[in-house]
Amino acid sequence: MTSTRQALGEQESALRGRAGRVIPGGMYGHMNVAAFSDTHPQFMRSGNGARVVDADGREYLDLMCSWGPMILGHNHPGVNAAIVDQLGRGDCLDGTSPLAVEYAELLVDTIPAANWALFCKNGTDAVTTCVTTARAATGKRKVLVAQGAYHGAVPWCALRGEGIVASDQEHLIHYEYNDLASAVTAAEEAGEDLAAILVCPMRHDIKRDQEMVDIEFARGLRALADRTGAVLVLDDVRCTHRLDLGGSWEPIGVRPDLAAYSKPLANGQPLGAVTGSDALREAVRSIYVTGSFWTGALPLAAALATLTELRKGEALPIMERAGRRLRDGLAAQAASHGFVVNQTGPVQMPMLSFADDPDFRLARAWAEAAATRGVYLHPWHNWFLSAAHTDDVIDAILARTDDAFADVV
Ligand code: PMP
Repeated sequence: MTSTRQALGEQESALRGRAGRVIPGGMYGHMNVAAFSDTHPQFMRSGNGARVVDADGREYLDLMCSWGPMILGHNHPGVNAAIVDQLGRGDCLDGTSPLAVEYAELLVDTIPAANWALFCKNGTDAVTTCVTTARAATGKRKVLVAQGAYHGAVPWCALRGEGIVASDQEHLIHYEYNDLASAVTAAEEAGEDLAAILVCPMRHDIKRDQEMVDIEFARGLRALADRTGAVLVLDDVRCTHRLDLGGSWEPIGVRPDLAAYSKPLANGQPLGAVTGSDALREAVRSIYVTGSFWTGALPLAAALATLTELRKGEALPIMERAGRRLRDGLAAQAASHGFVVNQTGPVQMPMLSFADDPDFRLARAWAEAAATRGVYLHPWHNWFLSAAHTDDVIDAILARTDDAFADVV
């Protein structure tokens, strides 16, 4: 038995009290842990490898990797060294760091569908830039998006929330992921006004089991884009680098015209990237996109170090091995405790749901029990593994999740 802890620590409670006064709701967006748990800490002080430490000094084995960014693990020495080295020379300068050119060269060399790259700060910037580029290239307005797919939290694509007006999304037409006929129907609805088909490498919508892409669907979207003159945009933000360094659809041989990347590009430093084909070079040059911090040197230094490390070829096999070990272990545990669970998606981006749990009561209880036993995982969003998830880390996680299953009643 691993030990349980009191739900929330003293520092955590004090910080929540203070935050409630100066940060609306105590916290907002996906980082609002109160929205999914009574036991997960809101505040974290540090992280190392596959471990994070909360404000009260409690350590957690981390299965979220900061919701994706930490692909090499927290506080990675090689990435840190690159950041510190650049810090001595400056971060935010009048002009772009030469590192941007070096990193663009490395990215273009890594991603077969990429003839060029441009950089921004996060995934939303990257996807928005893709859509703008597609409209500039085609002179059309309509964008096909999968029902329920997350592409960012700005008005043109946000899934929910007050303050969004219908006209913000009037040029989106929805299709069902992995249902080619629905995409064809959506394209027909767009008629002569179709600019882009936006798609994620797999279905990883919140609060539903993940779904791998059907190859025929992916090929069908490629053909649909070719037939209609629309731009095929792959939103690879969440899957970036974890499935394949060359782009998540590279293994199935379907190449997008534009792709958006972010999350783990710079192992936790803020960076997004758009890559594209030669055919879209002029279009992307014609749009106006920028931001005060888009050319900061520290994220570029971190990204170069991260991709150089990933290209050595060890990290992805470690994540896959860890993911299989975790999935097998959780399957055995769930069965031994009498639960039917669904484990979906690629093993390096795991997701576990309970059968007959439409309101996620069991998933939440299990995730909360895991947190009190020192494992940080989410009840209804996919998790992320990193190169720091070695066998001993997975075994330590499994020792605690077993007890967490026992806690679920
Ligand atoms: N697209 C996808 C598929 C994502 O998962 C996310 C982030 N969860 C985004 C876009 C937006 O990225 P960011 O939060 O970095 O702006």
